[in-house]
Amino acid sequence: MRTGDIDAPPAPARVGIWGCPIAAVPPAVDAFRVRFRAGHPPSPLTGWRHFAAILALACVATSVSFWMARGAAWWEWAALPAGFLIANFVEWLAHSRPMHHLWRPLAIMYEKHTLEHHRFFTHESMEAESDKDFDMVLFSPGSLAFFLLGTGLPVAALFFGFVSWNAGWLFVALAVDYYALYECFHLAYHLPEDSAVGRLPGMARLRRHHTHHHDETLMAHWNFNVNFPVFDAVMGTHWELARGRSPRGRRER
Ligand SMILES: [Zn+2]
Ligand SMILES: [Zn+2]
Repeated sequence: MRTGDIDAPPAPARVGIWGCPIAAVPPAVDAFRVRFRAGHPPSPLTGWRHFAAILALACVATSVSFWMARGAAWWEWAALPAGFLIANFVEWLAHSRPMHHLWRPLAIMYEKHTLEHHRFFTHESMEAESDKDFDMVLFSPGSLAFFLLGTGLPVAALFFGFVSWNAGWLFVALAVDYYALYECFHLAYHLPEDSAVGRLPGMARLRRHHTHHHDETLMAHWNFNVNFPVFDAVMGTHWELARGRSPRGRRER
C-alpha cells in the first residue's frame, strides 16, 4: 500500500447487493476495483448466471454419479468421508502453496488469487458491490477445468482403478459437491454481512475465519480452508485456534 493511501480518508458507506449497506471501501481498494472492472468487462456468464451454472453442473454431476453408484456396498460408501479428507487437504495445499506463493509453472493461480482476489476484497472490505463482481469470487470455467481435471480426475482414477467402480463414482459426487459448497459459502462470505444469507446460523463464524484470511498480514500463513478448517487445524494454520492457544499466534496479529 502506498503512503498516500494510508493517510487518505475512507470512502463513504455504500449500498450493495439486495440494497444492503456494505462497509466503506478503502480508497486503495476502490481504485483497484475501478481499474480491474475497466480491464475485465462482464461476460454473458457473469453474476447470478455464473452461480446458477455452477449449481446446475453440480446437480447434474451428482445425479449421474449417484445413479452410476446405485447398489454400492456399505464399505464403498467410505469413499465419501475419505474423499472429503482428500478434498480438504487438496484445498489446503493449493491455497497455502501456489495460490499464495509464486511458483512459475502455476503463476496464473498466484496472479488470480493473491494479486486479484485478495486485492479486490480485503478484511476491511469483503462485500461484492454488485453481482458483476462475482467473477472475482467464483472460479472461471478454465480454473474449474484445471482443478477438476488436474486434481479431481487423478484421484478419481485411483478410486476407480484400485478400490471399485462404485467408490469411484461416489468420489466424483463428493468432489463435485465439495467444490460447489466451496463456491456457495465463499460467495456468501463476499455478500453483505447484513443480508439474509449473512445472518444464516453459523455464517458469522465461518465468515470471520475467511475474513481473517483476507487480512494481508495473515493471508500467506493462516486459514486456508474456506468452509471446513480440518487441515488448518491439523497443519497448525488455524489462526483463531493459534491465537487462543499460543503467544505466537497473538503476536502475529
Ligand atoms: Zn475470499
Ligand atoms: Zn487466499
